[in-house]
Amino acid sequence: MPVDVVREIELIEQLEQNHHLTKQEFQELLELRFATGNIDEQQEMDQILFAKARKIQNRIFGNQIYIRGLIEFTNYCKNNCYYCGIRRENGAVERYRLSREQILDCCKEGYQLGYRTFVLQGGEDPYFTDDRICDIVSTMKDNHPDCAITLSLGERERESYERFYQAGAERYLLRHETANESHYRWLHPPELSLEHRKACLRALKEIGYQVGAGFMVGSPGQTVEHLAEDLEFLWELQPHMIGIGPFISHKETPFANEKNGSVEQTLFLIGILRLMFPKCLIPATTALGTLAADGRERGILSGANVIMPNLSPVSVREQYSLYDNKICTGEESAQCTQCIQNRMKNIGKRIVVDRGDYPNNQ
Ligand code: SAH
Repeated sequence: MPVDVVREIELIEQLEQNHHLTKQEFQELLELRFATGNIDEQQEMDQILFAKARKIQNRIFGNQIYIRGLIEFTNYCKNNCYYCGIRRENGAVERYRLSREQILDCCKEGYQLGYRTFVLQGGEDPYFTDDRICDIVSTMKDNHPDCAITLSLGERERESYERFYQAGAERYLLRHETANESHYRWLHPPELSLEHRKACLRALKEIGYQVGAGFMVGSPGQTVEHLAEDLEFLWELQPHMIGIGPFISHKETPFANEKNGSVEQTLFLIGILRLMFPKCLIPATTALGTLAADGRERGILSGANVIMPNLSPVSVREQYSLYDNKICTGEESAQCTQCIQNRMKNIGKRIVVDRGDYPNNQ
């Protein structure tokens, strides 16, 4: 066996045992995997990692996969992130906001389809004041007391997060995007800072939310060292959910001509995350499904255990274009759900009607 494969297996075994490596070791592991040009070797390493990830996933979650109904409720955004298709300066996108009634209808339909978690995600849209969000969240909760509500609205004041929590939101997704200061500045305009992003994540945790962080794989300027820092940061934060997906360029952004991230590298990182965080809720993301027809299935087989199908009205789906060629923009929610159910069944997994909270007592 080639020496680098031997070393890589050693690191993976160490990770399996301790759930952790030093930053240098993470970097070494990623370099060994990403730098080798030998496809057979790469596949061999992947299979070793994924088998271990699946073993842990199976021990904790069996063959169950959780679904979260994603409601993309606004594509207005006051921010101008260089990678994102709904950034403020993209004049080519038609903007929309769902009404309170439309959002509640999405939930109603989702509930009938078996969803017990609703994720409200959107751009940072000042129209949705704290009062409006609280009203929507508490009505969702009244209508579906057995459901969990996840918010993903970006950065807000601590008091706002507290009010949303009191209104009934229990989970919050806020990817840190990159844990490296200079890389953060490379991806964002000067008014956004990593420090503030991290402060938001810490506040959310302190308030009592189940918190999701995460990053894009292969974003412009990203190095293996940055990825090692992402893993280190996640270890420090100990989030309940981790969302990662390949960067995909969007034609109306400053990164229009940048290369997309790699499906294989994303899968490898999902495997690492499962070894680091056995109980974490890790989605096989839409971005992964966009770059490969079987991307989400492969995500699950690398250690992910969550799928987030779209419950937004079909009429607006095209407009929530974070990146080019996003999938599932033409199908009705019922079709998307059925499609995911079949896809999971084909790989021996089962979608459950369950809130799918972070497993505290196992
Ligand atoms: N405004 C919210 C929601 C952002 S959209 C927030 O700030 O958290 C959700 C995620 O999509 C982002 O966190 C980002 O990681 C991802 N995303 C945005 N643009 C992308 C792109 N071009 N390729 C891949 N993922 C992207």
